[in-house]
Amino acid sequence: MSDCIFCKIVKGDIPCNKVYEDADVLAFDDIHPMAPVHVVVVPKNHISTLMEVDTEKTDIMNKLIAAAQKVAKIKKIDASGFRTAINCNAEGGQVVFHLHMHLLGGRKLQDPLG
Ligand code: 5GP
Ligand code: ZN
Repeated sequence: MSDCIFCKIVKGDIPCNKVYEDADVLAFDDIHPMAPVHVVVVPKNHISTLMEVDTEKTDIMNKLIAAAQKVAKIKKIDASGFRTAINCNAEGGQVVFHLHMHLLGGRKLQDPLG
């Protein structure tokens, strides 16, 4: 999508601090980190929200999880622990409408339910 910020990052039109990349997924440091490690893991193809994931036709969620495991190892928080979160739509706190998984760690995290 031409006006999507994460599509622009995937294309290289907006710079990012890349953490991990494969054929289907890109992971990069969040621009406003909420923890010492805060990485955003996105599918390279545009999917707007979790509700748009076609669970019958795609294994993109498995690919996001596999990428998150790799990111956790790269950032050396696989053993200490981390949290993943996918915000969906307005009341879920979604601001960027390109599916993404947050990966947070590097400190003891508090109760996530706001
Ligand atoms: P959401 O609230 O949609 O789940 O999370 C969007 C996340 O994307 C936010 O944590 C925000 O800081 C991050 N973000 C928004 N724009 C950019 C950007 O241009 N670059 C990077 N690296 N992160 C961004
Ligand atoms: Zn997009």
